[in-house]
Amino acid sequence: MAADHLDQELSRLGAKAADYAARHQVIDKITWPNGARVAVNFTADFDAMLLRRVLNEPPMQLAKGEFGGRVGIWRLIELFNGHGIKATIFTPGRICELYPQAVKAASKSGHEIGDHMWEHRVPDDAALERDHLEKASSAIEKLTGRRPVGTRSWHTRSLLSDNGFIYNSHDTPDHRPHYVSDADGSRPLLNLPFHLAIDDAMFFSFTWLNSENEAQRMMDPDHVFDIWWAAFEREYQQGGYLNVCLHPFVSGRALRIAMLDRLITRMKSLPGVWFPTCEQVARHCLETNPPRLSNTRVH
Ligand SMILES: [Zn+2]
Repeated sequence: MAADHLDQELSRLGAKAADYAARHQVIDKITWPNGARVAVNFTADFDAMLLRRVLNEPPMQLAKGEFGGRVGIWRLIELFNGHGIKATIFTPGRICELYPQAVKAASKSGHEIGDHMWEHRVPDDAALERDHLEKASSAIEKLTGRRPVGTRSWHTRSLLSDNGFIYNSHDTPDHRPHYVSDADGSRPLLNLPFHLAIDDAMFFSFTWLNSENEAQRMMDPDHVFDIWWAAFEREYQQGGYLNVCLHPFVSGRALRIAMLDRLITRMKSLPGVWFPTCEQVARHCLETNPPRLSNTRVH
């Protein structure tokens, strides 16, 4: 009886794995323009106080988020500009209303403004979801003159494709850019994965998501420098991809900006490091490694 049950469980897992394999197309042997060995996407989720508001966090947390809109975003823009890096700022629609000057300045400097949902959530109701995506896209377009083509969100893949989005930078099932599609290979959308180990909030967020004291994180920036350098170096050696996830209210603090400055300076000391926007990576992937239509994955 127990063995039968185990068999059933294993066959269910097998079906799940087959479904996963059918829906994911990893770009295995990716090459970058001009012989670059690695592409590094610096991304910033411009949440400011919005997520704290959605989670109904206390005033001190709202103030922490506000720092991101008043100071942190400007410091990040200055840092990226100083290094000649083009970054991607994933911006909720509501934040366009709160900090229009910062969004405009980022766009003017050549950084990509991507969608990060209307108010940092995706409604279950399909019509409302469509309305949110439209409102966020319009808010970005109003400030930058361009509708976003990339997102970091839980939005439905088909809705994104129908609205001209060419990539999401959200899921983390792989360390390389990959396509996610329906099981028959249709409706593919590129995902540019990041990882929580390369996310500033995992290391520097005190009183995080209503957490208790024992869950707090306040790490030494030098320690985080070492972790992120090790991740970068491995990708560099293997010819890969790194998506660094920052938040202006977290990394905008002076000591962390200084750490990022050292990190970027060291990355730039190696030849063949490319710092594009996510859109540039996405367009390159789509051009050089378009999704296969019929999904026969070869290992
Ligand atoms: Zn966010």
